[in-house]
Amino acid sequence: MPGRLQHKSALITGAGSGIGLESSILFASEGANVLLVDINLEAAQKGAAIIAQKYSNVKAIATKADVGKEEDIKAAVDKAVKEFGRLDVMFNNAGIMHPADDNALNTEERIWDLTMQINLKGVWWGCKYAILAMRVNPPDEAKGLRTGGSIINTASFVASMGAATPQLAYTASKGAVLAMTRELAMVHAREGIRFNSISPGPLKTPLLMDFLNTQEKRDRRLVHLPMGRFGEAVEVAKGALFLATDESSYMTGFDFKVDGGLSSCYVTPV
Ligand code: NAD
Repeated sequence: MPGRLQHKSALITGAGSGIGLESSILFASEGANVLLVDINLEAAQKGAAIIAQKYSNVKAIATKADVGKEEDIKAAVDKAVKEFGRLDVMFNNAGIMHPADDNALNTEERIWDLTMQINLKGVWWGCKYAILAMRVNPPDEAKGLRTGGSIINTASFVASMGAATPQLAYTASKGAVLAMTRELAMVHAREGIRFNSISPGPLKTPLLMDFLNTQEKRDRRLVHLPMGRFGEAVEVAKGALFLATDESSYMTGFDFKVDGGLSSCYVTPV
């Protein structure tokens, strides 16, 4: 059986942990060559080593980049094209939730700016260089390869829902990712470049669990989750895989919620 991403190439940011790591492994298992990009090179290299051990039919390469720096993102996209000959999938997934991010009164400007730099500008630059690469993808009828591609941006449930446990800069950055993705989808729809966001619910990854470091803090959230549990990174990776493949070929400008029903919920089950 050919994989769902056979002959294709993907660049995934934040690939050293959580959603990015699980997506890298899953995309590779479906036949994609993967460039694992992270500010933590060692973590990305561990991910590439897992893939190399499990899937000998694909290339997995780790590279260091800070998505908050335009030149780093450009270099990472250039590397993917140089190593794989093309870029079919760009997963702008890296993001931060700063511990000092709070409400309107307590959030310092430097925390706001840092959050926007990584979570919003990083996604913008990832889109920019992916567009330039995808426009010149060499088509190959026999292998089912075309110009264009799929760009997936990680937003969050907080892009669409308010929380009385605020992280204002994070929430604003994710709302902007949602809006920006929708608009990019319209601008590039006729060149075969699809843009979709993915909005995870609260997950059991370091990003959230480092912050929800007491049972009391976890319980404050768990009562609002219809399924009564936090999500797993791999559950979001499976959604990203669908958006990455041609199975979602008529989907663009969509926000794919993988949130255990959270955004549809008024009263949770007891
Ligand atoms: P994670 O902490 O497990 O992984 C994030 C990865 O991003 C890490 O490997 C980290 O080193 C990397 N990273 C951080 N800053 C970077 C930078 N400047 N440049 C490159 N890499 C950087 O987190 P996760 O839960 O897998 O989060 C992935 C995405 O999902 C983020 O955008 C996050 O905002 C979003 N998200 C997470 C949750 C959740 O509950 N965990 C919910 C909604 C959305």
